[in-house]
Formats: sequence, structure tokens, C-alpha cells
Amino acid sequence: MRGAVALTSTPDDFRLIAGADLLATYRFNTSIAAHYFCSQCGIYTHHKRRSNRDQLGVNAACLEGVSPFDFRELPVLDGERHPSDNGGAVRPAGTLRFDPA
Ligand SMILES: [Zn+2]
Repeated sequence: MRGAVALTSTPDDFRLIAGADLLATYRFNTSIAAHYFCSQCGIYTHHKRRSNRDQLGVNAACLEGVSPFDFRELPVLDGERHPSDNGGAVRPAGTLRFDPA
């Protein structure tokens, strides 16, 4: 998932329109979150969030009509400061900025 811009969605708002048969699942550490990847090219597509199981994280690059370059500034979280490991506190690791040339 490194380098991906992930947006959140509820499972009811998320619709996988193609490639479900090619998805592979990866779980690590607590095995609570399920991370989905394309088994052909390896791109991260989405995951069931550990911090909020009613939400999905979705790779913006996989959304029709959305580009990761649409986002000029995004908060960055890392796995070492995961809210589920810190009493629910969100501790940003930094900010990712995109300045178009
Ligand atoms: Zn693929």
C-alpha cells in the first residue's frame, strides 16, 4: 500500500465493477484488516480498515474519473502510529504534498 492515495468509503457505497476474480488478499500483524491486490499486476486496490471496520480504504488510482494527482495535500499515517494501537488517537506522521510542475 506504500505510495497509494487511499480514500475511505462505506461498504454500501463501494462497488467493484471489474476484476473481482483476479483479487488476492493479504493480512498481516493482527490479521484484522484485509488488503486486496490485483494478482496480475500487484496494485493495491482497497482494504477493510482495522481502525474502523465499517469503512474501506480505496486506492484513488483505481477509481474511475479520479487521479492521485487531484489531491494537492494529504495527511499521512503510518502503521507504527495506528489509531487501534494508540487508544483511537490519530497521530499523523506528516503531510504529503503535490506541487504540479
Ligand atoms: Zn492488475
